[in-house]
Amino acid sequence: MKDNSKTIVDFNFSLIADFFARLNRQGPGSEDVTKKALSFIDNLADVKKMVDLGCGTGTQTLTLAENTDAHITAIDLIPEMIEVFDGRIKETKLEQRISTVVGSMGESPFAENSLDLVWAEGSIYNIGYNYGLKYWHQYLKKGCYIGVSEASWFTEERPDEIQEFWDANYPEIDTIPIKIAQMRDAGYTPVAHFILPETCWLDEFYAPMPKVAEEFLIRNAGNKIAEEFMQMNSHEVELYKRYKEYYGYVFYIGKKI
Ligand code: SAM
Repeated sequence: MKDNSKTIVDFNFSLIADFFARLNRQGPGSEDVTKKALSFIDNLADVKKMVDLGCGTGTQTLTLAENTDAHITAIDLIPEMIEVFDGRIKETKLEQRISTVVGSMGESPFAENSLDLVWAEGSIYNIGYNYGLKYWHQYLKKGCYIGVSEASWFTEERPDEIQEFWDANYPEIDTIPIKIAQMRDAGYTPVAHFILPETCWLDEFYAPMPKVAEEFLIRNAGNKIAEEFMQMNSHEVELYKRYKEYYGYVFYIGKKI
């Protein structure tokens, strides 16, 4: 039966979920990168309460749980992501340490000055890096840390094609010095930053996609929007391969002043 109550936004969200919730990662990253970012946090053993924003299906959340003693609240807007993640958590011994929430990272369920660590891998862009850093500042305790990975330019100039792609998709992308200055302006001491290795994109994120895409197209056979969605996705992969010397993800770690 046709569901006439769906808007285009709902429809696209369900396609996004149908594809991305079948991947272990919904963005570039790796276990080593999460551990490296954690290594810049002083007194990690004192981190008892943390949040993982835009957790997706939770691969980095599991790494965070395995490498801290914290209780982690993992938040994602898309229910299917949380559903998959809940299933994964049940297969571990970490059930007592992770709570999942379907919700927006723009609406904190926490009290002010209550968090020991705020984490967001490849996800703060959903509310904007600047806004996100400022918004979550109030929920962190003084002297505690935020770790986010964020799309960044590696050069001052770049070819029009890739500039136009990012202007259309995430105009807040900027150079590393500007991202660091923005972190300072948001009320943090920038403690460390590092570029995610290309393997985080090519092996961890993109390599599993063709098989998942093939199955997605079979499930959604005849659906033109689904086909367009996969073409758009392949185009993004191609752009990364062609222009990866100009941009990538950078992990930024800051300490609340
Ligand atoms: N952190 C995961 C990773 O690195 O694999 C997922 C990154 S993915 C690029 C971004 C995630 O943010 C998606 O799972 C998406 O559902 C979620 N998301 C989008 N908008 C959101 C919002 N306003 N609040 C919470 N999560 C959101």
